Amino acid sequence: MNVDVLIVGAGTSGLAAGIASAKNGCGTVCVLERNPEPGRKFLLSGSGQCNITHSGSIADFLNHYGDTKKARFVQPALWAFDNIAVTHFFERRGVPILQREDGKIFPKSLKSEELLKILVAELNDQGGLLQTETVVENITKTNAGFLLAANHGEFHTKKLILATGGQSYPSTGSRGDGFRFAVRLGHHLVEPKPVLTPLIVRNYFFAGLSGISFWSDKIEVYRNGKRVKSGQGDILLTHRGLSGPGILDLSRDIKPNDELRVSIIKPEEFTPEVFAGKKTLKNALQRFGIAERFLVQILNSLPTAPDQPATETNRETRKKIEWALTGYPFIVERLGDWNEAMATGGGVVLEEVNRKTMESRIVPDLYFCGELLDIDGNTGGYNIQFALSSGFLAGNSLRNYS
Ligand SMILES: Cc1cc2nc3c(=O)[nH]c(=O)nc-3n(C[C@H](O)[C@H](O)[C@H](O)COP(=O)(O)OP(=O)(O)OC[C@H]3O[C@@H](n4cnc5c(N)ncnc54)[C@H](O)[C@@H]3O)c2cc1C
Repeated sequence: MNVDVLIVGAGTSGLAAGIASAKNGCGTVCVLERNPEPGRKFLLSGSGQCNITHSGSIADFLNHYGDTKKARFVQPALWAFDNIAVTHFFERRGVPILQREDGKIFPKSLKSEELLKILVAELNDQGGLLQTETVVENITKTNAGFLLAANHGEFHTKKLILATGGQSYPSTGSRGDGFRFAVRLGHHLVEPKPVLTPLIVRNYFFAGLSGISFWSDKIEVYRNGKRVKSGQGDILLTHRGLSGPGILDLSRDIKPNDELRVSIIKPEEFTPEVFAGKKTLKNALQRFGIAERFLVQILNSLPTAPDQPATETNRETRKKIEWALTGYPFIVERLGDWNEAMATGGGVVLEEVNRKTMESRIVPDLYFCGELLDIDGNTGGYNIQFALSSGFLAGNSLRNYS
């Protein structure tokens, strides 16, 4: 089969790239997808509710993709199709949008399939083709463009957009194939690793408290005694360790054996008055609003007796309690694997891709978008936003081509 533009992967970024290139009259546009249906990962995003983007300015957005190099790279894509463009795109096609108080943006129905239907219908309306159950196995550069070997035969194309996603949740179809294709075509990778992933904690005291969550003002990551990163956010206790946005967002910078020091209260809240009065230690500390079972377990882990009179707490024990509540130490055994991670860190080296067009700087007429690139965003809608923005940018870059 001969097509003008081939897109590999009908996930979030591939559908966006297909819509944009078909709309731009780039000749025949075809999106190939290994699964029987498109957008599996999109469907399960946000627990099926699909947190598509976040409120705020694009300047705010740039702080949510890791370091300044990443911020610089994502900027043109985000400008080209920003969070307002995303919400308008769906609203104009009849999907009411909901912005939560925390800034996260969802379809009002909280149903990702409603949005996926719009993307697929738009691809179709623009004249783009979608071919499912087609697994691309190999890609070769030819004089005329690219030759793709798939389970159902061969495809020839002049322009190729790789939108195969990362490697997390391999059951969705994103199994890292695109990394292999990129390397074969001459690109380099920052080694892919699971990110937005929970932590498994060594000698964990809180296994029975799974489901309890709390806000932490300061989550510090220490490696070999040196602080390497810090953040804040909601933390969720799991039966094996820690999760929740505060942990997931930091996970790209965490390694096994790191020590996390997690504040449960602010240091200035810990005053001598805490121990005054007739209460037990446990009741006295409840002024901090910590879930009772969690508080008792913290005190047991020190160890100290939760039911002793607060006034009888000696200096040494007070110090221990202060230390635990203002920076409870957790040693990371390991990070959650590919089946647990919500995104892929690493990917195609950014210096090898033109951030203004998404075209390869190594292979002309080859484009990348979405998680295949060395970009991973925080929780809150930043990954879907980048997948859509980079897909639209790649497709729009073919504007003058037909
Ligand atoms: C559980 C979970 C929840 C998430 N929740 C959110 C959220 O609420 N908000 C948010 O912003 N982000 C969320 N994300 C992340 C977000 O879904 C992804 O970052 C985004 O969908 C990536 O889009 P993509 O186009 O790069 O890749 P994908 O959407 O993964 O698309 C890649 C497609 O390529 C296909 N493919 C791969 N290889 C081949 C091949 N060889 N031949 C043919 N087809 C191939 C795959 O089958 C797949 O359909 C979540 C992720 C997970 C796992």
